[in-house]
Amino acid sequence: MRILRQGRLSMTVELGDLTVTMLSDGETVIGTDRLRGSDGEELAPEALAGADLADGLLRLPVRAFLVRGPQGCLLIDTGAGDAWHESLGRLPEALVEAGVGTNEVTAVALTHTHVDHLSGLVDGDGGLAFPNADKVFVPVEELMAFRAEPRMIPVLPRVMPLEQGDGPMPGVTAISAPGHTAGHMAFLVEGRLLIWGDIVHHSAVQFARPEVCWSFDDDMAEARATRLKVLEQVVEAGWLVAGAHLPGPGIGRVERDGEGYAFHPATRGT
Ligand SMILES: [Zn+2]
Repeated sequence: MRILRQGRLSMTVELGDLTVTMLSDGETVIGTDRLRGSDGEELAPEALAGADLADGLLRLPVRAFLVRGPQGCLLIDTGAGDAWHESLGRLPEALVEAGVGTNEVTAVALTHTHVDHLSGLVDGDGGLAFPNADKVFVPVEELMAFRAEPRMIPVLPRVMPLEQGDGPMPGVTAISAPGHTAGHMAFLVEGRLLIWGDIVHHSAVQFARPEVCWSFDDDMAEARATRLKVLEQVVEAGWLVAGAHLPGPGIGRVERDGEGYAFHPATRGT
């Protein structure tokens, strides 16, 4: 992997015939009670010792990723738009910084249908944020939830069901990673970078203690089992990872570290 370009809100890396651009949607903070132990209990203060806090709250960056190839541009997740915290919704700014026009996006794929992943599909006026994205891939288990969201009405004619093994563009394969939501999906790019959505929400705690869950997980036990499986898989395969809530620049490498793992953010020369 080679870093081609890096700015405040974006970083573009080269992977074979494709490039992947991390796009920051901004950062918010959220209560430490979102992190939960094995039985769903809130963590004791000492278990939060290494957490990345701002005024006692967990930092939560939000990111999307753009995969560009000879046959088009696939945007994976779209940020929170204006539907969640005020500090989010900066995806359009990140696209400008990365030199990508919204008209260049030819398809969108969602890791899942939570507010910080789908809301950027529509702009502030309720119109299509990516008018040339004629396909919007939504995990099949979450089609009902997507269709029930009133803000997504303009997008509905473009929706395509997404299943394990599907290729929303050449060089990108969908890999089922359920638990955080029933249809939660990761995307393997060029067989070596896994864009893994919400496998980890708080890096500073969950790499060292991957058993720690997130209170927004639909099924914490399944999310935990998937996280453990995926972490093992990326280490064994030597894949790079990219995550919607990983610390900057949102792309890096995972290594085993004692009983758990450690995340090493990408730097030039990674
Ligand atoms: Zn998320």
